[in-house]
Amino acid sequence: MSTLEFVGLAAVAIAVFLVMEGVAWAAHKYIMHGFGWGWHKSHHEEREGIFEKNDLYAVVFSLIAIALFVVGSNGHPLVFAVAVGITLYGVFYFVVHDGLVHQRWPFRHIPHRGYAKRLVQAHRLHHAVEGKDGCVSFGFLYAPPVERLSADLRRRGTVAAEQRKGRDAEASGARPPVA
Ligand SMILES: [Zn+2]
Ligand SMILES: [Zn+2]
Repeated sequence: MSTLEFVGLAAVAIAVFLVMEGVAWAAHKYIMHGFGWGWHKSHHEEREGIFEKNDLYAVVFSLIAIALFVVGSNGHPLVFAVAVGITLYGVFYFVVHDGLVHQRWPFRHIPHRGYAKRLVQAHRLHHAVEGKDGCVSFGFLYAPPVERLSADLRRRGTVAAEQRKGRDAEASGARPPVA
């Protein structure tokens, strides 16, 4: 393989890595919080044990990447580059989402500044809503400013505490507060 070819393939892998953010965002918003909620629900509840049903999504994505690696190593370098991009995204996702945000690894590290802090806060806000509807922040690589997400949540009135307030009000016969 020439240097030029290698650089080209590396560029493809990086492009796929970036595109995967869009794929992950769409899958999270429309599949996981849509017809795929059955698996994803476990991720929005307290976890019992090491695994949750939602991990099956990681398995599915891994199987797709493995299949692409198999095809790629049989004379299709472009497919191989795509597989590398997907896998890099998976690693990033695991470190940020499962590691930094949900602390599924044995050491504790909470970022207090910069990009990492913003990612963690944005995803915490994703989990601030109870249930599958009215959530914000479905992406991972790109996080909108926390202030904007909080304002969004307030406007929708879907934060878990407010949802409970609404339900209590309903139970006592009062009209739920209009957001
Ligand atoms: Zn979610
Ligand atoms: Zn999460």
